[in-house]
Amino acid sequence: MKVGVLGCMAERLKAKFLEEEKIVDLVVGPDAYRDLPNLVEEVEAGRDAVNVLLSKEETYADVSPVRLNSNGVSAFVSITRGCDNMCTFCVVPFTRGRERSRDPQSILEEINAMHEKNFKEITLLGQNVDSYLWYGGGLKKDFKKASEMAKATAVDFAQLLDMCATRFPKMRFRFSTSNPQDMTLDVIHVMAKHRNICKYIHLPIQSGSNAMLKAMNRLHTREEYLELVKNIYTLIPEMHLSQDMIAGFCGETEEDHKDTLDLMEKVKYSFGFMFAYSERPGTLAAKKMEDDIPLDIKKRRLQEIIDLQQRHSLYRAKEQVGQIQEVLIEGTSKKSQDQWKGRNTQNTVVVFPKENYKMGDFVEVKIENCTATTLIGKAVGYSDNN
Ligand code: SF4
Repeated sequence: MKVGVLGCMAERLKAKFLEEEKIVDLVVGPDAYRDLPNLVEEVEAGRDAVNVLLSKEETYADVSPVRLNSNGVSAFVSITRGCDNMCTFCVVPFTRGRERSRDPQSILEEINAMHEKNFKEITLLGQNVDSYLWYGGGLKKDFKKASEMAKATAVDFAQLLDMCATRFPKMRFRFSTSNPQDMTLDVIHVMAKHRNICKYIHLPIQSGSNAMLKAMNRLHTREEYLELVKNIYTLIPEMHLSQDMIAGFCGETEEDHKDTLDLMEKVKYSFGFMFAYSERPGTLAAKKMEDDIPLDIKKRRLQEIIDLQQRHSLYRAKEQVGQIQEVLIEGTSKKSQDQWKGRNTQNTVVVFPKENYKMGDFVEVKIENCTATTLIGKAVGYSDNN
């Protein structure tokens, strides 16, 4: 048996895997899929095989992914690779390279292939989807050097989303992840225009304190973020937002932490991904900042953030009790063989009795009860989206 490691951490860990622990034969970076046949030949000839070069062009537009363990209902489609933002805590710009976008035609073709296989929901995926920009290929940072013709015909994220939702009206669309500094109101207007774009945005901020946002090199302030959130809730009142938060980043004071709790109170996210800060080797924070918050303080602040999020999740769930919501059936509930589970447009999990409905159906469900993470209901009929 030959063992290989493929992905964005391969470059970081290649010495450990190949030389120190000698546990793998093959180390392949995220931009080297096309080199796999050669690398496998190298391994078969008895040599270690490594390709961790990052590409300026590669978007794998014409490589159709094989979707293992797919539920046959929902799928991810990659639209950008890399990230040009240099958040000081994040390793992505070093492991995934500079930002480049995929040709919209190839994105539509991949979605069409999913549509023909009866998939019902697509999540457009990238490190920073709102930064999507197709102008004929190449790095986003080189856009200003493009020809006037290329600039005039460029496609941004709002336009791409509009194209997808218009061309496939019976499919549902989500996207992830958004960086607030790159999100435009055009995207929100497109979301408001199309029923089949889900009313949910994962909108990480990482901290509610301006001092921490600056230290993290997030290129927006707390006030700008709250203004964006206000505009989103005004244009789409039923929108749900989720967050990423880091507790105990370098230099974080008790006041900074309170700003995070205060911001959460203002936004009332429906859920979140919350972590105590830990250094990632190679990042600007690891090189230049002191990880100076004691672990017990980090843990206490994290727990306060988690507790508050639990309260807000329950608040958002309770708001939905009594509503009739469209749910896409994605599988059997983990807790009961007799219940389906699916998600509503806000990305909340909904469970309800199976009756005669089947996987992939869009069903109208009356929400009767809830926990902080799950809505519990009863189907009242098919949605007209089927
Ligand atoms: S946190 Fe997100 S936006 Fe910031 S560098 Fe990492 S991938 Fe890019």
